[in-house]
Amino acid sequence: MTPGVRPLIAGNWKMNGTLREAAALAEGIRAGAAEVAERAELLVCPPFLHLHVAAAAIAWKPVSLGAQDCAPQEKGAHTGDVSAPMLADAGCGYVILGHSERRADHGETDAVVKAKAEAAIAAGLVPIVCVGESEAQREAGEAEAVVAAQLAGSLPEGFAAAKGVVAYEPVWAIGTGKTPTEGDIAAMHARMRAELAGRLGAGGQATRLLYGGSVKPSNAAGILALANVDGALVGGASLKAEDFLGIARAVAAG
Ligand code: PEP
Repeated sequence: MTPGVRPLIAGNWKMNGTLREAAALAEGIRAGAAEVAERAELLVCPPFLHLHVAAAAIAWKPVSLGAQDCAPQEKGAHTGDVSAPMLADAGCGYVILGHSERRADHGETDAVVKAKAEAAIAAGLVPIVCVGESEAQREAGEAEAVVAAQLAGSLPEGFAAAKGVVAYEPVWAIGTGKTPTEGDIAAMHARMRAELAGRLGAGGQATRLLYGGSVKPSNAAGILALANVDGALVGGASLKAEDFLGIARAVAAG
């Protein structure tokens, strides 16, 4: 954890569930949220079509609402896309950007992610920008350089002022049950902190740095206790309210 920074436990629901299941999951998280509110901010990021039922269930407090992507454009002829102002209008406070699944499935480059983050900030949303190396890059000893380059290319001006969040998600740890060692996570987060502080000054010191990749209740306490790990971005384990809340409970009481 970074002293003085409120931890964030964010759930990325990806492309899962029905309206009914989204409402039940959000309600389950809301029901347990008060108990963990002193330890961490909780955030749920449902699919676009489920935002409204999740919003109704969580009533925004004490659980925050976010989306999983936004368009770089503000509005107009972009069939199938959803803009950042639309997300703000629907009650979102956050948007996940540059997830490795979007980088892989939709060819999103650092420049695209940066443009989306600019659009998010302009709409008053907090961007959560994801970075992370592939297994081959880690094995080649390139992990820190890859992540530093992604940070340099993906974060726009105004990122720190907008309280932007960075999520380190090694691609090979997402949904696989594999995680880096705590030492490797700590080393990467120290490198990210140095990069952000160098570029953004005091704002970079206070930027929340999340770890993501196979976080679950049983490994969360060790990961969340590491220096410069200010929370978690959670995929699979965010689909069960009890597991998601269990991760939040693993944040050391402040
Ligand atoms: C993710 O996709 O952001 C993620 C961290 O997934 P999982 O927790 O399932 O590894």
